[in-house]
Amino acid sequence: MGTCFVHPECQTEKHCPYCSKPYCDGCLLLHGPIDRIVCKSCFDEISRRLRGSIFRRWFYAAGGLSLGPYLFYLGYIHSSDTTMSLVGIGALVAGIVNVIRIKTYRDTLRSRPYANGVFSPNE
Ligand SMILES: [Zn+2]
Ligand SMILES: [Zn+2]
Repeated sequence: MGTCFVHPECQTEKHCPYCSKPYCDGCLLLHGPIDRIVCKSCFDEISRRLRGSIFRRWFYAAGGLSLGPYLFYLGYIHSSDTTMSLVGIGALVAGIVNVIRIKTYRDTLRSRPYANGVFSPNE
């Protein structure tokens, strides 16, 4: 039993698994596909990091999905160059993997209040 890191007047038994600080229900969020508990400041940090990753991965995805088929065409159909066609397939697969990662990151960025709006620490 401790008191909320933000609200010293709130008793709580819960803590954020990322920063280990104690928080009351009103300070916690559930995020991601499996509803992981997280405090608001850790979630802000996670969101910032993931948005950066999503931004980068869009480039990889777009590059892989456009260059992959093109290299495959050049290698396999145009010049029977096995290496180039394999590189093309690799780039295409990398593009698809990045699209899947972006989807996973976006799922992780979904959040809802832990207390479902029932409890407010200011009441
Ligand atoms: Zn935290
Ligand atoms: Zn609190």
